Amino acid sequence: MPWGKASATMGWVFRPINSAELADIFTLARREGLTIGLRGGGNSYGDAACNEGNIVLDITRMKRILAWDAASGVVTVEPGVRLRDLWEYVLADGWWPPVCTGTMHVTMGGAAAMNVHGKNAYKVGTIGDHILEFDLMLPNGETITCSRNENDDVFYAAIGGFGMLGCFTSITLQMKRVYSGLLNVSIANCADLGAMFAEFVRRVPDDDYLVGWVDTTATGAATGRGEIHIANYLEPDVDPYPEQTLRLDAQHLNDTLFGIVPRSAMWRLMRPFFNQMGVPFVNMAKYWSSWLKDGDSYQQPHAQFHFLLNYFPDWEKSVGRAGLIQYQPFVPRDKAESVFRRILQISQARNLAPYLGVLKRHRPDPFLMTHGLDGYSFALDYQVTDSNRQAVIELCKSLDAVVLDAGGRFYPAKDSVLRPEVAQAYLGEEAIKRFRTLKERCDPDQLLQTNFWRRVFT
Ligand SMILES: Cc1cc2nc3c(=O)[nH]c(=O)nc-3n(C[C@H](O)[C@H](O)[C@H](O)COP(=O)(O)OP(=O)(O)OC[C@H]3O[C@@H](n4cnc5c(N)ncnc54)[C@H](O)[C@@H]3O)c2cc1C
Repeated sequence: MPWGKASATMGWVFRPINSAELADIFTLARREGLTIGLRGGGNSYGDAACNEGNIVLDITRMKRILAWDAASGVVTVEPGVRLRDLWEYVLADGWWPPVCTGTMHVTMGGAAAMNVHGKNAYKVGTIGDHILEFDLMLPNGETITCSRNENDDVFYAAIGGFGMLGCFTSITLQMKRVYSGLLNVSIANCADLGAMFAEFVRRVPDDDYLVGWVDTTATGAATGRGEIHIANYLEPDVDPYPEQTLRLDAQHLNDTLFGIVPRSAMWRLMRPFFNQMGVPFVNMAKYWSSWLKDGDSYQQPHAQFHFLLNYFPDWEKSVGRAGLIQYQPFVPRDKAESVFRRILQISQARNLAPYLGVLKRHRPDPFLMTHGLDGYSFALDYQVTDSNRQAVIELCKSLDAVVLDAGGRFYPAKDSVLRPEVAQAYLGEEAIKRFRTLKERCDPDQLLQTNFWRRVFT
């Protein structure tokens, strides 16, 4: 099942523990006439790690840290190592992953295959920008090493190539030096979307991390109001007790809220609010509480800043049984504000306001199938119910036209609705042709497939 739970598929799941077993499964699939879809932590919102009626190769048991150099911050991991395993391993030595997704449960294989970004994408790019080298097992069992100097065409295409060229078996990455386990965090309240964009523009040159929460149900002059969380690393010698703040127990939140309510029960308490009446109410309360906190600053452990949602287990269940579809367009910076305003207005006019909107700033990257550009992304979570499913899909299709018209792009990790003609329009014929040529070379029998690949590229 995809993370968004808006669809479900059946497949045969294999869970190899090493490269030899991986190669055996490729052989088995070929013999049985089956295709293979690679799967990491299963955190893609749509069908990118699903393979209906065929083999799903779950990589999460290939999870050894193969090499770590605490002097240079270079780490080599197997693909099933999760972001959580990684930061917990390197932090005590004064290092932190350069790119963090909103969940720490992603695997490094899944992160590389989608070329994920963090709240600092405008500053440090995507995870691919920090990958020095990887080994890729091709479906014929051969393993090739790829870097910027060796097999560079595969390097730039397999990163962000959604698992269609081969399976990462090891990945070498550069970590980021940190001098404290804490970040300086502050809050900026924004009265509307224009104010939020102005704040981003003002802060991008100096601040390390920026992420905007948007009240997606506010209308009229308040459209797009919300708050920005800003975070910065501490300079050397600022933290008087780095040996304490860099410890793991200083990073994690405890299991209860106010010492009483288990965090694992929070989704049940949130569930009654996920409907057309409840969401505007929650958004309004969140907005006014941020208004009260405008300008507040405090120190927060890295893990709590990046992965707060992970401390509320199963929170996505609060959306309801039919799950959610996330729609995350990337739009060039000069058009982003008007496009995102339009998206909110169209959604609201159809009574389908998303319940969550998250704004981030990005920069272009050199990867072939990239979603990156010099602009902004707006991640919108649409609740799916049995009665609105088709309407949400139709809405996303209408929004595609608005995004494409502005020169925008889309992100396979979040996608459930992309159509071939839309992918062709944003990636361009030339990029798709080059990717198909590499696919033909790395996987001539088309052994690697997923529902996403078949939906969008075949
Ligand atoms: C709560 C939440 C917050 C998120 N926040 C962000 C965010 O801030 N930024 C962002 O960029 N993304 C974000 N994501 C999306 C997530 O980072 C991506 O979907 C990521 O790819 C998930 O990694 P995974 O290990 O779960 O991979 P999966 O979802 O299991 O697979 C992703 C892709 O990788 C391929 N793959 C998996 N393993 C391998 C391998 N070993 N070799 C080759 N291909 C492989 C799969 O075939 C699939 O195409 C978020 C997701 C969630 C649920």
